[in-house]
Amino acid sequence: MADVVIIGGGVVGCMIARELSRYQLKIVLLEKEDDVASGTSKANSAIIHAGYDAKPGTLKAKLNVRGNPLFDKICSELDVPFKRIGSLVVALTDEELKALDELLERGKINGVPGLEIINRERLFKMEPNINKEAKAALYAPTAGIICPYELTIALAENACQNGVEIRLNSPVVDIKVENERMLSVITPGEIIHTRYVVNAAGLFADEISKMAGAEEYSITPRKGEYLIFDRRFGGIVSKVIFPTPTKISKGILVCPTVDGNFFIGPNSNDVQEKDDVAVTQKGIEEIVNGARRLVPDLPMRHVIASFAGLRAVSNTDDFVIEASKKVKGFVNVGGIQSPGLSSAPAIAEMVIEILKEEGLELKVKSDYNPERPQIFKFRHLSSEEKKELIRQKPAYGRVICRCETVTEGEIIDAIRRPVGARSLDAVKRRTRAGMGRCQGGFCSPRVVEILARELGISPLEVTKCGYGSEILKGRTKEFIETGGVAGAK
Ligand SMILES: Cc1cc2nc3c(=O)[nH]c(=O)nc-3n(C[C@H](O)[C@H](O)[C@H](O)COP(=O)(O)OP(=O)(O)OC[C@H]3O[C@@H](n4cnc5c(N)ncnc54)[C@H](O)[C@@H]3O)c2cc1C
Repeated sequence: MADVVIIGGGVVGCMIARELSRYQLKIVLLEKEDDVASGTSKANSAIIHAGYDAKPGTLKAKLNVRGNPLFDKICSELDVPFKRIGSLVVALTDEELKALDELLERGKINGVPGLEIINRERLFKMEPNINKEAKAALYAPTAGIICPYELTIALAENACQNGVEIRLNSPVVDIKVENERMLSVITPGEIIHTRYVVNAAGLFADEISKMAGAEEYSITPRKGEYLIFDRRFGGIVSKVIFPTPTKISKGILVCPTVDGNFFIGPNSNDVQEKDDVAVTQKGIEEIVNGARRLVPDLPMRHVIASFAGLRAVSNTDDFVIEASKKVKGFVNVGGIQSPGLSSAPAIAEMVIEILKEEGLELKVKSDYNPERPQIFKFRHLSSEEKKELIRQKPAYGRVICRCETVTEGEIIDAIRRPVGARSLDAVKRRTRAGMGRCQGGFCSPRVVEILARELGISPLEVTKCGYGSEILKGRTKEFIETGGVAGAK
């Protein structure tokens, strides 16, 4: 019998799991995919917003402003890269100048510190590559950038170290309620009896709520597409550069990443399917045109990848965070669209308050450890440190991903960590192997080999991102089956 079952291993579910792991509780987190951070939390703009954009009085505004300052401590405890680089909303027309005043006013009402409107001269000093027609900008020094999947993985690992059971490949297919109280959660592999359920299922939270017979709301997927550029051009901007926002989005931006690249995007288009993350030609044109308004001279020949993410837009147009009035013990955490990443720490605090009000007893554990052991990156070591490490453990001397300088030792560590990598994409999210200029062209076959060896499976069973995405097929499969590749069974 669990005390709390959390459905969904995105940044929200994992942040809640980590917060709850402070207490003497049996907690189970169920994720339908083969890794945490497999939904919206892996594909977004990665910005910890300052909080001036959301409408005053909404949960989005309140939780964004509360969440933002919590990131320094969380990221230092979890050894996750986070840079408070600040953001600029750039006005190019007189109309847009008025929008800056409105945003400044809204920011003040929301309680955002340090906001100011800066003139052209100061703007160009900060960002020399900005469109020369820029008239002024709203500067928000508290905005930051993070790696959203590294954060999610780190939260899951720390929760796991503190006793949370994380079950991957565990889609919730039914929820049983008895006398209007939570009874159990069902996956294809097990029935888990539980007193409380937290529904953090992202795009599917509406379906989970319906499954439990709790309050009904709808979630529409709203796609955002991106292009990411080679690290050589990472210095094109130093802050997050926004246009003035539209009614439905913060607009197409130009933004550095914590890994030294930069990206442009996202656009904002409602789509039918909750798994439609295809990048389209039309979408690419839209984001290139949008980004060129801010930074006209983009190095378009140095785009290294494209991707898309889906916002979970609820029909209430705000986060849906509440205890069900129909099913005792069921808590909805749905409609977590932007700024959901920035708000995640405050969402977790709020959910814990709700669970307490609903009767969950919270006794602090004496051995709770908020710190995740440091994950070292070979490429960040000095020459002397590298030499010494290779002498002790030769696997760190074999570079597997040449673009990002990722060694075999780091890939093995990623597989053996508490919520270890089981697929090519999971290795990529933990080590960056395959994220460089060649996008895995050289290293993928070697990573497949290492995964197969470490997991004790055939290379034929190694997947890109879980069951059904096996990498070796067709003639290659026959080649391996006839013993063509060393180690194949
Ligand atoms: C284009 C775009 C840009 C964005 N930019 C920003 C930004 O810059 N800053 C910001 O603050 N926010 C941003 N966001 C919003 C942010 O990404 C989300 O709010 C956040 O990632 C939501 O996290 P989540 O955990 O609720 O959802 P998810 O990450 O989608 O996690 C939900 C999980 O539930 C799992 N699941 C679903 N159904 C089941 C089931 N039946 N059983 C078990 N598991 C299930 C899914 O597989 C998934 O892993 C952006 C979003 C998009 C799409």
